[in-house]
Formats: sequence, structure tokens, C-alpha cells
Amino acid sequence: MIRFDQVSKRYESGHEAISQLSFEVGDGEMAFVTGHSGAGKSTLLKLLALIERPSHGQIHLDGQNLGKVGRGGIPKLRRRIGMVFQDHRLLMDRTVFDNVELPLVIGGLAPAERAKRVRASLEKVGLLAYERQLPDTLSTGEQQRVGIARAIVARPALLIADEPTGNLDPQLAVEIMGLFAEFQQVGTTVLVASHDLPLIKRMKKRVVVLDHGRLVADVPAQEVL
Ligand code: ADP
Ligand code: ADP
Repeated sequence: MIRFDQVSKRYESGHEAISQLSFEVGDGEMAFVTGHSGAGKSTLLKLLALIERPSHGQIHLDGQNLGKVGRGGIPKLRRRIGMVFQDHRLLMDRTVFDNVELPLVIGGLAPAERAKRVRASLEKVGLLAYERQLPDTLSTGEQQRVGIARAIVARPALLIADEPTGNLDPQLAVEIMGLFAEFQQVGTTVLVASHDLPLIKRMKKRVVVLDHGRLVADVPAQEVL
């Protein structure tokens, strides 16, 4: 599903955030990307969504060379990727339903089909009863679940999350990670950037470790203790 070949990313500042990074994530696999603050975790995810472009090397997503995707192809690419952020980035003046529906409106689906999918998504994250509410009437953990419902509503093959539990207490963090594991179980490829090592260990999934932009360890799920 994902292949990085000798990928480097140097920002305009001259800072090299990713250095000669090569790794693969298989179809339907779930992996964590971890490492210190500034290790390059966010940059790695941004390269996948074409929020940033590599300075060197190649990235393939589902067999497609991202270097060949021009500006015009980016919206189509992003529709295949569900993105979850630490700060959920919900529209606070729209209802939960409207927030989750947004990717489908952009995708041009008919209203009846949109409503069906929005409700299926909200049900998966346990928030169907909240569809008419505004996000700021929900708890932080619930808001994050709305963000996840929005990320999966268009049924992306790949789900990426950048510190999705960074603002949550440990119990809620476990629940949110459990949701990601459930999406993997139904066939979605999941890549989560997190610096929460105790939580990562609990999940018993593959762990890719970055240090100053370099891959320094790649621990298979069965070896995560
Ligand atoms: P992490 O997510 O692991 O904390 P990031 O990918 O956010 O790491 O950042 C990696 C390094 O690249 C850091 O040193 C950060 O300051 C730098 N960096 C990130 N984004 C930019 C940018 N837009 N311009 C310049 N440097 C950046
Ligand atoms: P995150 O890791 O969630 O991206 P950060 O606080 O690292 O959050 O970065 C917030 C934004 O600032 C990001 O868009 C990132 O690319 C950018 N950024 C981070 N470090 C730098 C930097 N040294 N110079 C310029 N922009 C940066």
C-alpha cells in the first residue's frame, strides 16, 4: 500500500526532516511511527498526503508514484486517504453530521447516499445520537471521534493519524487507538504517528522508529513487548 524509496525531505529552512527513508507498509497492515519531537513523524505523513513533496526519492501509494501526481491530481489522491489530526480540525459552527458529511459533499455523492454513510460512520465511533449537536457541546474525546468519523466516511483504503491521542487522557487514548485497530480489522491500512510509547506497546502492532529523520528501528508486531 505504501512504499518509501530513499526519501529525503529538506524544508526551505535547510533543515532535513526526513533522511533517506525506505520502508513499506502492506495492504491492510497497521503500523505506528514513533520517535522524539522533531523526529520527522508529521513530515512523513504530510509526504503521503502530498501536503509536502520529497526533495529526493520516491513514494508509491497503492502502486501509484506520488511524484507523478500533479496539483490537479491532489484532491483525488486525498479522497483515498483519511486523515486524523491531534487538534481534530472540526468546523465549530457546523453540526457533527455536517462535519462528517463534508468529504462526501466534496466527493459529489447524492444526499441520500451521504446521509446513509454519515450515519454508518457515526455509528462506528459511537456518536450517532450526537449528529445534530455542535462540536463544542462534546467532550474532547468525542470531538476526536467525530474527526475519525469524518476521516473514514469516504471509505479510504488508507487512514493516517498524526498524534490522534495527544490531547486525551490515557483511558480515552486507549479507546481511540482501539478504534483504529478496528478499522484495520475491516481491511483499512492504518498509519499512526505517536510519541506515546506505553500506549503503542499496548496495541501490539508494528512500530517504525524515527530519529532525526532516519529510520532507526522497525519492530514487527509480534516482537512488540
Ligand atoms: P515530529 O512530527 O516527529 O515532531 P516534524 O515532522 O513535525 O517532526 O518535524 C521534523 C523537523 O522538521 C523538526 O525539526 C521541525 O522543526 C522541522 N519542520 C517541520 N515542518 C517544517 C517546515 N514547514 N519548515 C521548516 N522546518 C520544518
Ligand atoms: P505537527 O507536528 O502536528 O505538524 P508542529 O507544531 O510540529 O505540529 O507544526 C505546526 C506547523 O508548523 C506544521 O505545519 C509544520 O510543518 C510547521 N513547522 C514546524 N516546525 C517548523 C519550523 N521549524 N519552521 C517552519 N515551520 C514549521
